[in-house]
Order: sequence, then C-alpha cells, then structure tokens
Amino acid sequence: MSTSSAPTRSAIVIGGGIAGLSAAFDLHRAGWRVDIHEAAGLWGGKVQSSPVGDRLVDAGPDTFLARATAGYQMCQDLGLEGELTSPVAPVPAYIARAGRLYPLPTGSMLGVPTDLDALANNGLISAEGVERAKVDLSADATPLVDGDISIGALCRARLGDEITDWLVDPLIGGINASDIDLLSLRAGAPILAAAYDLGPSLVKSLGEMMPSTGPTLGSAKPAQPVFYGLPGGIARIVDGIIAALTAGGAGLHLNSPIASLADAMARADAVVVATPTAAAAHLLEPVSPSAAAELAAIPYSSVAQAVVEIPRSGVERELDASGIMFPRGEGRLITACTWLSSKWAHYHRPDSVLLRLSSGRYGDERNAALTDDELVDALLADLRSVEAVTAEPIARRVKRWTPAFPQYAPGHLARVERILGAVAADAPALRLVGAAYRGIGVPACIDDGRSAAASLVDALG
Ligand SMILES: Cc1cc2nc3c(=O)[nH]c(=O)nc-3n(C[C@H](O)[C@H](O)[C@H](O)COP(=O)(O)OP(=O)(O)OC[C@H]3O[C@@H](n4cnc5c(N)ncnc54)[C@H](O)[C@@H]3O)c2cc1C
Repeated sequence: MSTSSAPTRSAIVIGGGIAGLSAAFDLHRAGWRVDIHEAAGLWGGKVQSSPVGDRLVDAGPDTFLARATAGYQMCQDLGLEGELTSPVAPVPAYIARAGRLYPLPTGSMLGVPTDLDALANNGLISAEGVERAKVDLSADATPLVDGDISIGALCRARLGDEITDWLVDPLIGGINASDIDLLSLRAGAPILAAAYDLGPSLVKSLGEMMPSTGPTLGSAKPAQPVFYGLPGGIARIVDGIIAALTAGGAGLHLNSPIASLADAMARADAVVVATPTAAAAHLLEPVSPSAAAELAAIPYSSVAQAVVEIPRSGVERELDASGIMFPRGEGRLITACTWLSSKWAHYHRPDSVLLRLSSGRYGDERNAALTDDELVDALLADLRSVEAVTAEPIARRVKRWTPAFPQYAPGHLARVERILGAVAADAPALRLVGAAYRGIGVPACIDDGRSAAASLVDALG
C-alpha cells in the first residue's frame, strides 16, 4: 500500500470509525499523506470485537448486507473475501407477541406482507388485521409531504396499525433502534420508497419487486446470501485497514480528539470529518454555522447489549432461527435476542449457546438506569417470558452505545443536501462522512468514506 514517490497532497481524517478509515484507506492508496485522529483508544468506532469468555465476539455489527456491495468490495481489497460467511439459521427470526413466538410470515419484505394468505395462516396478525391490510390493494396513493413521509404514517394508512406495530416496526425500527413513526421513508427504507413510487399498493409493488431486488431482508431463506459475517468479527475489516495504513506509513493517532477544525484545515490540503453529528456540529460551528445547526438537529438512539454464553442444557427450546424480535407493543426492555450461535457457524459450540440480548430504541432509555448486572438480569427475565432459560450465564459482556444510531427524520435526504451544500460553499476541501448522512449500515459507511476520498482526489489531484 505504500507509495513510491513523496506524497503531494495531505489529508487529516477526524474519526477512526469505519467511514473515516475507508476514506483514509483510499486517500492513502491515491498517494496522499494521511493522518487519522481518533478520540478513543481503539480504532473502528462502532465496529469492534471484544472477549466473551475465551473468544472474540462482535460488539457492534456482526453482519452486513450483501446487496450493498461496498462491504464485499472492501473485503476484497483487504484479501478477506474468501473468509466471508453467511448466516446458517434456516428461519430468519421469530416475533414475540403475548408470550408466544411466531416465525416471520413468508413472503414479507421489511415486515410488509406480499402474500396476505400466508400472513393469515401465520397467526401473528389477527383476522381483522389481515382484512385491514386489504385496504392497501385498492386505496388511492398516500400523499407525501415534500416528497417524504414517515414509514409509520405510510404503513398505518395502507396496512393498518396491527401490521405496522407487530411486523414493520420490529423489522425496520429494530434495525436502527428507531421509532418508525418518526423515520423517513426515503432515507430509512429505500426499498419501501421504491415500492411506494411503483405503487400505490405496497403489497403488490413489493410482490412485483421481490424477484428483481435479489435477496431480501425478512423473506424466507433465499438462494443467495443476504448478509455476510466474518469469523473473528467484522472488526477484522478495521484491522485490515489499519494494517495497510501502518505498512504505508500513514499517521495513526489514537486518544487524539480534534478540537479545532480550522487548525486541522490549516495543516492539510483536505479534511474529512467522520464523527457522529454532535462532534461534527461542534467542529463545524466556526467554519460552516448553517451546516452545524442542521447537524445538531439529527437525533440519535442509544442501545445497550448483553452477550451471554449459557450451557446448552440450560436452554430448552431448539434455537432454529437467528433469534427473536420483541415489538415495542410488548412493553419489554428487551428489543431482540439474537441466537448468535445458531445464526453463525463460527459461534457454534456443542455444549453452550451464545445469545445477544439487545435493549434501547428511540424514546426508550430505560437501560441507562440499570447497572450491568441489573441489565443482564432484566434482559434474561424478559427472554424467559418466551423461552425457557434455566441456567445462568457462564460468560457475559455488556456493551453500551451512546450515541448508537442516527435517526433519519422525514426530509432527512433534503437536510443532508443542505448540509453538504453549505459545507461545499464554506469549505470546498472539507468532506463529511459517516452513518448520519446516506446510510447507517457498514457498507453505506464504507461507500460514503470511499466516495469522499474519490471526490477529494478528483478535486485536488
Ligand atoms: C450495536 C450496533 C449494532 C450494529 N449492527 C450493525 C449491523 O449488524 N450491520 C451493519 O451494517 N451496521 C450495523 N450497525 C451500524 C454501523 O455499525 C454504524 O452505523 C457504523 O459503524 C458507523 O460508522 P461511522 O464511521 O459513521 O461512525 P462511528 O463508528 O461512530 O465512528 C466515529 C468515530 O469518531 C470518533 N470521534 C468523535 N469525535 C471525535 C473527535 N473530535 N476527534 C476525533 N475522533 C472523534 C469516535 O470516537 C468514533 O470512533 C450497528 C451499530 C451499532 C451501534
């Protein structure tokens, strides 16, 4: 990765999460002198692995979408593509309702059913709820406001509250720890937005789209991978980037928060700000005040997760899926239980199971009041409402993410355009990248970082 001639351009990257590292990786490959400053003592931001018992387990993302190719592409560039694996669990997930578990209805995409007969047979949604969804088949197009609407408002209008609360919210809201009544259709669920545009019926449009969109989140077991994981953790992508940058002589600065953007801009030809929005807003305030004000208005949810290893004999049911989603309507602290050792072959052991218990969503911060031990106990108690877990954990790890997920409100894409437009006018050699802008997932953040690097190389050479 090292360059043969002396670098002619220099960049400072502020934030060593996956977006900032991806930008640094490509700027460095383009022959630039790159310095990355990370406030924390670890690289990767949300992309981390840490021990649970005697093994490393993903602490943030454990997977990324295959359809968004930037993740695979980065693995290829790092020589990791041969090690990518896919979930092995045969059924995507169960949904908990009133003490019972229901498999995700077949033919649903992001929780929106495309087969109302299959939905009726599934039992999760009442006969009245299924009947209500038929309104979608004939209703006029649902009006938008300035081209966007909340996912909740759209789904409630077309499919009714029951499907929205017990299917769409756990799937789409669950991914980003969001409240779908406050989440942008265009930014939060682009596939649903495409169905709306094809519309007016979401059920029919998604049914038509299903064969052409490739593997889909929330459908029955597809032929191609929907998700990838990496034995040893997704953080191996971070390790790979850091190894390449180290070998090439980039400046890698941990425990090195940047306090002044103007100083950073004076020291390099270009600067990439790759922090969550509170830090980005603070940095931008003196340089681009209108961008800073818009950034500060993007809210975040926080999550806390416990990973527990339990003796196999202490879990009575067969763990034959990737886990359980607990819709908001259940009123529980737990939002999901991922059966990590069923989902991934690399976490499988014959004598124990590995479970990830999640809590926290936008508007629910109850976990913040609990100690780590109280959190594990409360999450296990919630899990026991649907699954007999008779043994105590033999290993455990609690990880709290504050902030965790930026929340894309309706109009988010227009807001991002305004932010980026203001920055382009105020500081042409500055780029903003990361989960707050054009996508929350790992591939979107990689793509954002790499696109920023390409645009700087285009602009400055
Ligand atoms: C629990 C959890 C599970 C997830 N699961 C998945 C998943 O399964 N699949 C998926 O695709 N995505 C998942 N995501 C989302 C994805 O991991 C994140 O959106 C993505 O990693 C964010 O990357 P980023 O680089 O934008 O930001 P971050 O990872 O937040 O990195 C920003 C960095 O900036 C640093 N920083 C802040 N201020 C300063 C400063 N002043 N100076 C220097 N550095 C600073 C921070 O310390 C941080 O390291 C998950 C996220 C979480 C929290």
